[in-house]
Amino acid sequence: MSDRDGKIWMDGQMVDWRDAKIHVLSHTLHYGCGAFEGVRAYNTVNGTAIFRLREHTERLLNSAKILRMKVPFSIEQLEEAQKAVVRENKLESCYLRPLVWIGDQKLGVSPKGNTIHAMVAAWAWGAYLGEEGLKRGIRVKTSSYTRHHVNITMTQAKAVSNYSNSILANMEATDDGYDEALLLDSAGFVSEGAGENIFVVKNGVIYTPDLSAGALNGITRNTIFHIAKDLGLEIVQKRITRDEVYIADEAFFTGTAAEVTPIRELDRIEIGIGSRGPITEKIQSAFFDIVNGRNPKYAEWLTPV
Ligand code: PMP
Repeated sequence: MSDRDGKIWMDGQMVDWRDAKIHVLSHTLHYGCGAFEGVRAYNTVNGTAIFRLREHTERLLNSAKILRMKVPFSIEQLEEAQKAVVRENKLESCYLRPLVWIGDQKLGVSPKGNTIHAMVAAWAWGAYLGEEGLKRGIRVKTSSYTRHHVNITMTQAKAVSNYSNSILANMEATDDGYDEALLLDSAGFVSEGAGENIFVVKNGVIYTPDLSAGALNGITRNTIFHIAKDLGLEIVQKRITRDEVYIADEAFFTGTAAEVTPIRELDRIEIGIGSRGPITEKIQSAFFDIVNGRNPKYAEWLTPV
């Protein structure tokens, strides 16, 4: 990914993509304390706009706060940086990756004495779990890896180090021929995908794990709450067992990268009709209307670049 034309925002400057480098002795590279975001810009009916920029930037700063990192940029500067990166790279729709990390002044577990840095990159990125996955649904495997306990790593931080758990789960599932992993919490209840929140539908009611199961407080998850309300559908946050997913009528993953992706199978057990269910389809279609600027009610969620 490093050998491309384009610009990356680094510590307040636009630098050439190929020159956006850090030193090998950077603290975050060794000990994993860093925070990031995944954000999308859509080519909406009113031009290119970033979806829920404020919420993503707030979560980035909250992740840094949880990790005791003092980011030397304001929310406004980080928002402006994200808009500028989309503009500079002339992207109509894209994925954005802001990251904050600890510098290279000193090593040792304590990061004290190091500077804190920030960057934003953006590139075109289509359907994370495949176009086919969005239509037909994906095949998921319950992971042999447990999701982080809420008091081991901080699960409300989108922390770099949390993703070694996601990587292990995703690699295990995809090596076994599945599309994605589903992780259970340390008590055995459903938590989330390697990079997605999960929802199930049973008898017309939508269920999703409450955040005590160690799932990230997804911004797409929150968008689904609004959509369900608009559609007159009830959403219940509760503990969910893996067998409740097996016998659900429908299931789907949500995430900035994954958007709304139906789940058609868990552990080789077909869920409902074994393809995208009718409620999932309605929610997915409402989601794409919102992100593409076709629902004026949510116009304030789209920041023009
Ligand atoms: N859980 C995890 C572990 C994730 O990485 C993501 C993607 N950020 C999500 C859930 C979904 O969050 P969001 O909808 O804010 O992208």
